Amino acid sequence: MAATLGTGSLENIREGLRAGDLSSESLVRVCLDTIQHQEPSLNAITFTDPERSLGLAKAADLRLRQGERGAMLGIPVVLKDNFHWAGLPVSNGSRIAKGYIAPYDATVVRRLLEAGAVPIAKANMDEFAMGSSGEYSAFGPSRNPWDASRVPGGSSSGSIVSVAAGYAPFALGTDTGGSVRLPAGFCSVTALRPTYGVLSRYGVTAMASSLDQVGPVARTASGVAAGFSVMTGRDLLDSTSVELPGSSRLAELKPASLRGLRVGLPKEYFGAGLDPAVRIVIENALRAFERDGASMIEVSLPHTSYAIDTYYLICTSEVSSNMSRFDGVRYGARIPADDLAGMISETREQGFGPEVKRRILLGAFCLSKGYYDAFYLKALKARTLITKDFTDAFEKVDIIATPVSPGVAFSIGDKTVDPMAMYLADAYTVTTPLAALPCLSMPGGFANGLPVGIQLIGSSLSDVHLLETAHAFQQITDHHHQTPPNWN
Ligand code: GLN
Repeated sequence: MAATLGTGSLENIREGLRAGDLSSESLVRVCLDTIQHQEPSLNAITFTDPERSLGLAKAADLRLRQGERGAMLGIPVVLKDNFHWAGLPVSNGSRIAKGYIAPYDATVVRRLLEAGAVPIAKANMDEFAMGSSGEYSAFGPSRNPWDASRVPGGSSSGSIVSVAAGYAPFALGTDTGGSVRLPAGFCSVTALRPTYGVLSRYGVTAMASSLDQVGPVARTASGVAAGFSVMTGRDLLDSTSVELPGSSRLAELKPASLRGLRVGLPKEYFGAGLDPAVRIVIENALRAFERDGASMIEVSLPHTSYAIDTYYLICTSEVSSNMSRFDGVRYGARIPADDLAGMISETREQGFGPEVKRRILLGAFCLSKGYYDAFYLKALKARTLITKDFTDAFEKVDIIATPVSPGVAFSIGDKTVDPMAMYLADAYTVTTPLAALPCLSMPGGFANGLPVGIQLIGSSLSDVHLLETAHAFQQITDHHHQTPPNWN
């Protein structure tokens, strides 16, 4: 019986399961114990259903005993609370969805279940995935396992904390403008945002539909790839879904060759605004690539400075439309009133938190007659220019490396008073979703004891090579082996 998650890496745990040294049931018990023990300080979890999880684990153990060897068989996983897992609540970190129970499984959840993965909990998140810190949740803020006075990053705060603190070796988050990458950087784990369309969004609450993607999270790139491998593949229930080339290489990931790899460093991501301590850590970490034969090439992405404005105009416009389905009629909470209009407005007034309301207002304004051309249409044009910047850069380089965030994890409360300051934390993560490109965040070292993330960006549908490159980096560095102070 496992007493701890060990190193916590999915690969080690999978080996233990295959060798019969571990059982999925014992692992799930360890995970649930860890959750119980750490939750008073981290607040990463919204719901669990131990009986159901233990039942799924026993079924996985049976499959293992019968000789089955799947990439995710018996592996405990945590799901952000905007995924549908039939029978459990989907809170979206909001009051407005209170009482809503998922009637079906999201496609990615169904595929994980079919592969024998064992969901053990739903994870805390910024309300409807709007936020960068984990502080905009109706369940209260999650905390960073490296320093509980700091934010873990958001909006997939609970999913990332779950992997960083050893609740589970794998988790799912979502990434609209950085929501798996930013917290992965702040908490020293690895998280992927796939090319738009590679993972089905069916059964995942929509925030900004042209930007939303499912984001797998693990300690390492090969752990991310294992979970990713069972979820890819076209889904008829999501018309934007696409097939991923090379996906058969994911289940047992091999490192890419770094010899001759051209790594682009965009000068706009290393300029003013980047914390000098973070810059030093990243520059040192990237030398590992050079030692193994890669070359660093400066590139320019000239429209980067428009990315925050462009993202927040498009995002809020889509948010204002998507949030209209929460009206007190269809999902969760209903505040009674004398008439229908009163019921809807009272439910939304009491159900939504301030950040969601701010975005509904901003988005409705951007889309309204007279302002549509000046804001929304202009943002769409800027999106095209930002995309073209990347297309041009990928003529010269194979991959792009940047910091994940301008600074390390900030203190709880630091940015909630100033929404603009919160938005600026996303400066390096909102560009790639606008361009629909695959990107990941991986541990790059520490500045003053706090994790620093490196972002790798690939060309469209190069997700597998991106993970293989991160895997190669993790073969020659050990940042991803570091665990936070209260580990196990
Ligand atoms: N921080 C960004 C926002 O608040 C990204 C959120 C996300 O990726 N879900 O919009």
